[in-house]
Amino acid sequence: MLVSSCWARISSRTCFWAELIRYAHGRAAARTLSIIKPDATRRDLTGQINARFEAAGLRIVAQRRLQLTRPQAEAFYAVHKERPFYRSLCEFMTSGPVVVQVLEGENAIAKNREVMGATDPAKADPGTIRKDFAESIEANSAHGSDAPETAAYEIPFFFAEVDIVG
Ligand code: ATP
Ligand code: MG
Repeated sequence: MLVSSCWARISSRTCFWAELIRYAHGRAAARTLSIIKPDATRRDLTGQINARFEAAGLRIVAQRRLQLTRPQAEAFYAVHKERPFYRSLCEFMTSGPVVVQVLEGENAIAKNREVMGATDPAKADPGTIRKDFAESIEANSAHGSDAPETAAYEIPFFFAEVDIVG
């Protein structure tokens, strides 16, 4: 009786620490989906944009250059279907190659959005990707997931787990 209650306490503590380690690792190794948009690939800015991610502690753990099809762009941006810019956005996103990538690092989602800057380059902080490179509010050089649930949809949209090497 005594032995079994001791064991129950030990194993519940082990569970607690295991959970804590898993949680900490999850936070430390958060991932986000990034897209270098057609306006940036057209001007050969991939290297400069990637250098900013890496300098900010965002490791590129998966990356592929591809041409989005119209159905892919429409599905990826389905959340914006009712917005007035949806058609134009899908047109723009299929106008040239994009580089899709998974970025990994502490608070990757927030960090990536900080490095990208505000959607509208006119409102973006100095030194951000969009301030320095974006052509317009639409052709704004980079996309980044905006929440963990979004990243959970967007990462598997382009990458299998075996394609992501941390
Ligand atoms: P992203 O999702 O690409 O990271 P974001 O989260 O900053 O950008 P959203 O509101 O999700 O901005 O808009 C998605 C994309 O739609 C923008 O990045 C931009 O390319 C385009 N977009 C947003 N607002 C406008 C607008 N008012 N006019 C034209 N295009 C827009
Ligand atoms: Mg968005």
